Amino acid sequence: MRLPRPLEDLIDQLQKLPSIGPKTAQRLALYILKLPSEEARRLARVIIDVQDKVFPCSICGNLTDSDPCSICSNPTRSINSLCIVEEASDIIPIERTGYNGRYFVLNRGFKLMDDSDPADMDVQPLLHILNDGKVQEVILALNPTIDGEVLSRFLATVISGHNVKVTRLAYGLPIGGDIEFADEITLRRALEGRKEF
Ligand SMILES: [Zn+2]
Repeated sequence: MRLPRPLEDLIDQLQKLPSIGPKTAQRLALYILKLPSEEARRLARVIIDVQDKVFPCSICGNLTDSDPCSICSNPTRSINSLCIVEEASDIIPIERTGYNGRYFVLNRGFKLMDDSDPADMDVQPLLHILNDGKVQEVILALNPTIDGEVLSRFLATVISGHNVKVTRLAYGLPIGGDIEFADEITLRRALEGRKEF
């Protein structure tokens, strides 16, 4: 049986979303079809709105609908500490820790496998913040992957010309984990990041 064209189009679009397979796409499309008209229109509208109204903050790169973003324009946040993350979504878990400094979002996937060179990255916005002279510590909070490691080293070199302390997250053993089953890299980094008891 051939589905009506508009329904097929919707299924095709939904299937392009991450973690959505053909069956889920079909189920979602049929669900949307049965929605009250006003709700379906609202859904279409918010999809357009998110594209039109959300953009990277001109200072830190965080996603925002007003420029500068709510973090950059918050006077109670410390300007002395700058946490560098790969994606704006990385800010959410760090915010939950109670961190009260500023951020800088790279917004750029870097992958060694793609032959990309970290030196091609536009570091001007970062240098602009550092040139202000208010930042005392830069925290590199990049993903604990080979790519994150290469990026961290590159950024540390970029920052080294400025009079700031560069630190990075200590990667340790998961709580409730077992040392016997920890991989070598995790264990080495946990050992490097050890603290006085
Ligand atoms: Zn911002």
